[in-house]
Amino acid sequence: MKCHICSKETLSFEDPRTTILYYHCKTCEYIFKSPTYYQDLAVQQKRYDLHQNNKNDAGYREYYQRFLDFVLPFAGHAKNGLDFGCGATSLLSDMIAQNSIVCDYYDPIYHPDLFDKNKKYDLIVSTEVFEHLHHPKLVFERLLNRLSDNGILAIQTQFHTNNREDFLHWYYHHDTTHIVFFTAKTFMVLSERFNCRLVGNNGKNTVVIRKNSTKICNLFESGEI
Ligand SMILES: [Zn+2]
Repeated sequence: MKCHICSKETLSFEDPRTTILYYHCKTCEYIFKSPTYYQDLAVQQKRYDLHQNNKNDAGYREYYQRFLDFVLPFAGHAKNGLDFGCGATSLLSDMIAQNSIVCDYYDPIYHPDLFDKNKKYDLIVSTEVFEHLHHPKLVFERLLNRLSDNGILAIQTQFHTNNREDFLHWYYHHDTTHIVFFTAKTFMVLSERFNCRLVGNNGKNTVVIRKNSTKICNLFESGEI
């Protein structure tokens, strides 16, 4: 199967424990489950309902604070923001607002009533979302289109080590709603493809991407995806 990120040929492997089939792209380091394991939103929601974060949970606040400590220095100019895929609560957008950045939030299940479709944002954050996406390249492009010139897109998802043995022992893909897996290189390839720049990488789970002020290439309109 061709890679859903860079269109190069992938290698397949099976998890002997679950017999789930995975595809691994050596070029951009993207790993994805066979699309037969992708679930629709109604099925996913049953699992999400079990582990929605609580605004009063100190652990979640610390988790988001570590994310913001890494991301906000890249977004010094930001006046407004969006938390894309916020889940049930607005905790992260509330914390961003405490940094003088007016912040909207959106979630396809819990907060689908999306705002002004033409609104542009200086900062878009998306934490623990991309590993759930059926079409991450398309979502990546759409989020770039919602950024203002020189805006910042910050994505958090756990990076794999690009080693198959490590991957098979990794907890992260055991969650049935986690279907696609990245490294910072995957996001670098995506950034180059859409003419933006990867400007931050914590080497673990977070990348920061800056949109160039020039018009981005629109692969969706060109029919490439
Ligand atoms: Zn690839």
